[in-house]
Amino acid sequence: MIKAILLDVDDTILDFHQSSLQSILQAADKAGLELPEAFFPVFTRINVSLWESYERGEIERQEIFERRWKEAFGEVGIEFDGILFEKLFRHNLRQCAVREPGAERLLKYLSERYPIYVASNTVIDQQVSRMIIANFHKYITAYFTSDNIGFAKPSQEFFRYCLNHLKGIRADETVMIGDSLTADIAGARKCGIRTLWYDKYGKNVSDAADWRVTDLAEIEKIL
Ligand SMILES: [Mg+2]
Repeated sequence: MIKAILLDVDDTILDFHQSSLQSILQAADKAGLELPEAFFPVFTRINVSLWESYERGEIERQEIFERRWKEAFGEVGIEFDGILFEKLFRHNLRQCAVREPGAERLLKYLSERYPIYVASNTVIDQQVSRMIIANFHKYITAYFTSDNIGFAKPSQEFFRYCLNHLKGIRADETVMIGDSLTADIAGARKCGIRTLWYDKYGKNVSDAADWRVTDLAEIEKIL
């Protein structure tokens, strides 16, 4: 029997791609930069690769923020201080929360049945701020973020910390819902937590998780 939900935020209930795109455009505007079309795929590739290195424990999180703009600007030939751009970007991102389709309905449905705990690799006040703006904060029992725990998904320490704070609820009575096969699904599975993969981009990897959905609305049939 399922008794608690661990829930990823970015690209699960908030559309991080759209939220960050808006925040980048606003930051560029403020910085007086015109970003060429080519910038966005370059930045995405560099950013994803840095986050993957972080998940593998190869770099500290701070390194992502120090390197991503500098390297992306460098590749497209823009001269601008990457650290300053990160500040402008983060300031905007705190106030930007584009909802994933079906997220509000899902949160309402789940919150009437289970306590929902956010489990996210991020800075806690930024995530709470975005959840408030999206009007999702009211559905959340508590926040577990890499920032306040000191460990990140997919480490065992992260998930064990969450389980230790679920007050008597066992791993197999808990479901981790998220879009990342590495951070959310593989990590939770190793701790015996049940897993529901939001396969947003239809990668369709078999046996990766206990359940797989491509639309958040399908979750109501499962949980
Ligand atoms: Mg995610």
